[in-house]
Amino acid sequence: MSSLILKNVNDAAAIVLEQATAAANQTTFAVGGVMVNNLTGEIIFAIHNNVIIPLSDNTSFTFDPTAHGERQLVYWYYENKEALNLPDPSHITVITSLDPCAMCTGALLTAGFNVGVVAIDTYAGINCAQNFKFETLPLNLRLKAQETFGYYASGPSYPKTLTRKYVGGLNVAFKDGIVSPANLKDCGSIFNQSVDTVRATSNSSGLQPSQMQDPAQLPGTSPIISAYQNIYSKAFTVKVKNSRLPDCQILNELQTTLDSASNANNAVAFIDPFGNLVLCLADTFDESPVHTAFMNVTQAYAKTRWELMDQYVAEAGADNPQLYLTHPKYGSFVFLYAPDPHDSNTIMTLGGYGSTMEGSIPNMFPSNLQFYYPPRDGSNISELVSVVNNMPPFYTSNVNISMMQVLSMICN
Ligand SMILES: [Zn+2]
Repeated sequence: MSSLILKNVNDAAAIVLEQATAAANQTTFAVGGVMVNNLTGEIIFAIHNNVIIPLSDNTSFTFDPTAHGERQLVYWYYENKEALNLPDPSHITVITSLDPCAMCTGALLTAGFNVGVVAIDTYAGINCAQNFKFETLPLNLRLKAQETFGYYASGPSYPKTLTRKYVGGLNVAFKDGIVSPANLKDCGSIFNQSVDTVRATSNSSGLQPSQMQDPAQLPGTSPIISAYQNIYSKAFTVKVKNSRLPDCQILNELQTTLDSASNANNAVAFIDPFGNLVLCLADTFDESPVHTAFMNVTQAYAKTRWELMDQYVAEAGADNPQLYLTHPKYGSFVFLYAPDPHDSNTIMTLGGYGSTMEGSIPNMFPSNLQFYYPPRDGSNISELVSVVNNMPPFYTSNVNISMMQVLSMICN
């Protein structure tokens, strides 16, 4: 990629708007981001949201619910840091067309990037209250967000709604610049035009379990079985009676997965609506500090499902993945340990769960977000509950995140 030097923040806003426009054309969330070297103004990498990537037959289908611009930039950074000899995150600014959601905020805080924001998102954005207090974050992370996040100035404009002063950290690139009111307005409105449709597409991308068939009945040679067994060798071989009531077998698989991982604190399982253990993966912190077990599981489930769907629509003939694999809201995510409430990766994880659901979850008890053991850092579950309850409205009133403990006492 040829290097391009940005001269001012309005040029940066124009580039993230261009990315957001490309995302809108791809039928995904219209958000774009760019990673900039603070010292030189050089664009290191630019990307847009890729939650939805149309299949070969042009139908919109969820590719990866975590593929927001900023989250992808953080992962891209760790993949390329050594090869490209990239500066430390504290010398880089991630400039984004829209205020980051909880998942992206968690990833950005863990990595330690500066963040420059153009438009506000009052529903899922981490600064949804627009007061720069970050009461959406646990207390210990609010100061860090105030030091590294910045909201660019804009104006003058009539009406005055687009006129604002810069609020934010001292090391954010172009903090003294001004975004034109037109670019600020367009970054917000292009997202607003996309959000409802994309959320609906993403939340309704699977059949209800009553319309499906149990994938465990498929022969081991089925591409559906082998695709998941390539990621987790026991995929579809372990079964629980009720997908919302994981048992001691699942606990054992989680423990075994964690014990055999080289650099991990936690493991997460995904159980489908038939009670099949589909994936059970640990953190892969050798890859990066943001490769948590939950992110690994939700990404692997969705991307594999997308690839199987794409093969199916391109070649036909094979088993229709829609009959066997559905939206993860009908299954359960089970953590070995509840996430630590003070950890920025927990914000990423809870946000990633919200983005995976992308709307309401079938109203069943217990919740489809569960854990066996309390947080490893010794925190109380009540602290985790309060972190969840402080999240932006999308998570508390739309997805309605609720995390429950699996009764594991029978396993001793
Ligand atoms: Zn995000």
